[in-house]
Amino acid sequence: MNISDATFQRLEAEFNAPSVRSSTSPLLNRQWISDAEAQQRAGVNPFPPGVVAPRPVFDIKKMRELLDMNNFALRDSFYELFKNPVFFPRYNESLAEQRARTIQRWRLIAKTGVFHNTLQTFTAEGRQRYEATLESVGAMEHSMEIKMGVHYGLFGGTVSLMGDDEQCAKWTPKIENCQMLGCFAMTELGHGSNVKGIQTKAVYDIPSQTFIVNTPCEEAQKYWIGGAFQSARWTALFAQLYVKGVCHGVHPFLVRIRNEDGTTVPGVTIGDCGAKNGLNGVDNGRMWFSNVRVPHDHLLRRHSQVSRDGTFTSNFKSADERFGASLASLSGGRVSVSAGSLVQAKLALSIAIRYGLSRKAFGPPGQEETRLMDYPAYQARLIPPLATTFVMQLVLNHLKAKWQRGELGRELHVWSSGFKALISWHSLQTLQETREACGGQGYKSENRIGPMKTSHDVALTYEGDNHVLLQAVTKTVFSEFMKGVRSGGNFKGHFAYLKDAEGLRQADLSGMDARSAAFALTVMRRREAALFARLAADLQKRTATGVSSLQAFNDCAVLVEDAGRAHVELLMVELFHHTLGDLQRGGETEVADMLRLCGALHTARTVDEQVVFLRCGAVSVGEAQMMHANVGRFCETLRPHVLSLVESFGYPPHLLAPIAFDYVAHNSKSRL
Ligand SMILES: Cc1cc2nc3c(=O)[nH]c(=O)nc-3n(C[C@H](O)[C@H](O)[C@H](O)COP(=O)(O)OP(=O)(O)OC[C@H]3O[C@@H](n4cnc5c(N)ncnc54)[C@H](O)[C@@H]3O)c2cc1C
Repeated sequence: MNISDATFQRLEAEFNAPSVRSSTSPLLNRQWISDAEAQQRAGVNPFPPGVVAPRPVFDIKKMRELLDMNNFALRDSFYELFKNPVFFPRYNESLAEQRARTIQRWRLIAKTGVFHNTLQTFTAEGRQRYEATLESVGAMEHSMEIKMGVHYGLFGGTVSLMGDDEQCAKWTPKIENCQMLGCFAMTELGHGSNVKGIQTKAVYDIPSQTFIVNTPCEEAQKYWIGGAFQSARWTALFAQLYVKGVCHGVHPFLVRIRNEDGTTVPGVTIGDCGAKNGLNGVDNGRMWFSNVRVPHDHLLRRHSQVSRDGTFTSNFKSADERFGASLASLSGGRVSVSAGSLVQAKLALSIAIRYGLSRKAFGPPGQEETRLMDYPAYQARLIPPLATTFVMQLVLNHLKAKWQRGELGRELHVWSSGFKALISWHSLQTLQETREACGGQGYKSENRIGPMKTSHDVALTYEGDNHVLLQAVTKTVFSEFMKGVRSGGNFKGHFAYLKDAEGLRQADLSGMDARSAAFALTVMRRREAALFARLAADLQKRTATGVSSLQAFNDCAVLVEDAGRAHVELLMVELFHHTLGDLQRGGETEVADMLRLCGALHTARTVDEQVVFLRCGAVSVGEAQMMHANVGRFCETLRPHVLSLVESFGYPPHLLAPIAFDYVAHNSKSRL
């Protein structure tokens, strides 16, 4: 595929930052990378000094393939590309420089042609290639991943999912090769999580056969729109559609916002969102529309159509169904955000665990000091998040496979919402813990964890605020639970386990193997069952007093979120053990055994960290104490394998940090 190099030439001139074009901004000392690579070439694993590489008890390559799923060579080819100085990290650059550098990097990545046929045909292979690319890029720098995710995933994804076949065929090739650069304009200053409430209007004008788009008030200005301030020429605009005076709800339109020379089109005003806490390589903007005329065939009409003479039709009967379908591109976005989020956790753990293995502090008088990783208190901070990261990656792989197969239904919505919330929370917590675990070194930008943390933070908010997502999960699955209740206990689907509610209550956890699926499922199901039953009772109590069901849900929102988390954590355990079963059946015993330990630690820490298990009676005090003891026990068991485990994430030295290797040599006077 020919990428539109003319587009990038123009963009590089527009994002004018001379220091970036001439690459004169200072580089960090990169000798540590050459050292690590020289060790690799000599056949020595580049571990931190004094760290004896344990003989892995599982096949690291197989583990990596299990985690990455596909496109291994492609990922490695990107890691190789990132040895080009354009991709070297630079810190303390101005906003303009960071944005310019992102464009410069995008050009080189786009030039590889990797995005060809990722939107046009939307095959499983195309989606896998797209996801693998974004994940690889995210390991280099998060802004770059998000900048591309907005253009290809959100803008391109909206056109390809919401446009009909003719519209897709016309526009997606141009989006893939960057001839049409776009952004995704859903959020407004006054409405973010509440998308239904957005106020931008698109009124169909029969005489001119155009939609007239207006921003009716300041709260309706489009806000936070990635790429809008400088690079985008087009936007996937979400607006309330009016036909013959009737509002048909939120619909997507393809709208030109800039001419190819970068000037804004008449009626569109664009402003900058300014400096952010992170992700400053992305030019987020604000937009106002004043009588902007959008051609009739730019309503993305896969699900809803307006005839030229002004008749509205839709494939969906209810406005709610229509609204749900118009947000489909967000599910794909949540898959990418979850995957990108775990990349940050994996990198941070790779860096911190290596440092914890080589760094020593305190020790018996007159003897060598003790390695940090040999302190149980230190293990308890890094090994549980490591275990959870493995569990979440394997669970996420189920979601990715579902998305790649094009299963866009209710289950994708629940999984993508729930997993995105829990994965991004987990990653942020891991980034904070790893930052602290590296002490002062964790606060140095060149050691990556700090900048990664500030950039990743917003993953908790965009593509759906995590709290709001958990509420949405409960709202979606609660009706299924209630069907079982109303049928007198004939629970089906996910809740079928409740047919034997008594057996679940009576199960003796202390007599079970804490690494088994039965153990994890018992404890997670008990919590879910208790919280959903509690929610049903509380809602009924409230609606009996005459309040609406919406108000009752809002009144119970804390419990609603607890129930959502319980549901998602149970789903995760189910999917994780499904993978373990497959591995076991496929003869991958060593990999499965290691993962089973990770799963056991993940379950133990989940219970140990959340008092809700005790509060709702899912575990007794004695069982809670057992879980707490299990955390320490499994940390100790996993301790000899932590290096092999982070090795299986597959990141080469140049994507890690100096403290992951010989930090003393790196900081020596001779390298000043
Ligand atoms: C860096 C960045 C990039 C972005 N990029 C884009 C983009 O390209 N395109 C785009 O369209 N949007 C984008 N967004 C917008 C993003 O999707 C929204 O910020 C997000 O949906 C949250 O909306 P909000 O900021 O209005 O927060 P609000 O919805 O106002 O939420 C504020 C707080 O209220 C809480 N809250 C809200 N409702 C409830 C409730 N019912 N019960 C309890 N608590 C509640 C939330 O949990 C949150 O903590 C971006 C945002 C950022 C920060």
